[in-house]
Amino acid sequence: MKAHIVLLPGDGIGPEVVSQAVRVLDAIASQFRHEFVYQERLMGGCSIDKCGSSLTDETLADCQAADAVLLGAVGGPKWDNPNAKDRPERGLLALRKGLGVFANLRPVKVHPALIDASPLKPEKLQGVDILVIRELTGGLYFGWPKGRDVKDGRERAVDTLEYYDYEIRRVMELAFKLAQGRQRKVTSVDKANVLESSRLWRQIAVQVGAENPEIALEHVLVDTAAMRLITGPASMDVMVTENMFGDILTDEASVLAGSMGMLPSASLGAGRVGLYEPIHGSAPDIAGKGIANPIGMILSTAMLLRHSLGLETEAVAIEKAVDDTITAGARTADLGGKLTTTQMADEIIRRF
Ligand code: NAD
Repeated sequence: MKAHIVLLPGDGIGPEVVSQAVRVLDAIASQFRHEFVYQERLMGGCSIDKCGSSLTDETLADCQAADAVLLGAVGGPKWDNPNAKDRPERGLLALRKGLGVFANLRPVKVHPALIDASPLKPEKLQGVDILVIRELTGGLYFGWPKGRDVKDGRERAVDTLEYYDYEIRRVMELAFKLAQGRQRKVTSVDKANVLESSRLWRQIAVQVGAENPEIALEHVLVDTAAMRLITGPASMDVMVTENMFGDILTDEASVLAGSMGMLPSASLGAGRVGLYEPIHGSAPDIAGKGIANPIGMILSTAMLLRHSLGLETEAVAIEKAVDDTITAGARTADLGGKLTTTQMADEIIRRF
């Protein structure tokens, strides 16, 4: 297979982990006889500095024309001014919107050898294997009106939480489809006791649930979901929720795996281009030291091979190599070890 992949290394540790992901993809290409053609582009803070925009029209067009996009991370203290005209996060939101990727998939698995790296008690972590699906292009982060003004002599800020039925239905249908290949259980998270948008969310969850009677559906309020992730995470299979709840719950769920550096994500939509990135940010505190854990990024390439290119065997080869590497005791600093970013990738690649 020949595939065209746009690389957006971004800021901070982004370029450090993306370069290791490319080594992994190259190793897979040579072992399974594929050809991956890369196109590297600027995005985030580095793009503001060089091009005056966090995401240029040209870069977005290149991403839209690719088979898949691999993103490192964006942001950092240099671009943190909340009053700045452009910020790295704006580029990220524009990229998601421009690619039409409405669902963010974050698998959270706890490797048995890393149970002690998590702050939770080991008995709570046995068997944890959750797929969190976050709606990505609607809700509070995109709704209008949004902004600040002065009303009745008082400074006021407004955000709008808005969902259309079709936006909820498409992400709900994806959750039920992905649950088919898992434990066949969907946990739909909302705040239906307070929010109108959540009542529509729940209504559509019930409809899609009725169309998929072989899948068990439960509704959980977001506050209860936050507690369940800590008190009984093994009881959950596929969790699906709206944009802001998902933003918060996915970070909470990441703690189960022991380090932010371990977890991958895939953002998918109706179009063919998927966006793949680790869940962590640009980690300015360790950027440039060569010690970032590349596993979240490397597992994101496995998701890219599976979801955008249909290369399941190759995806499993990467996931198994990561599992074996952790089992063998290889650890970067975030997991209490001494391996550098490159050495961790070496350990994974030699196990293909
Ligand atoms: P962060 O994820 O960058 O870092 C949180 C902590 O986890 C830090 O101590 C960091 O050293 C550690 N960490 C993260 N990834 C690691 C890895 N691969 N290996 C080892 N340790 C790792 O979150 P933050 O500090 O809140 O944010 C830093 C910047 O990243 C901010 O500008 C933020 O806006 C941005 N950010 C970007 C994204 C993205 O690009 N998708 C996501 C989150 C945050």
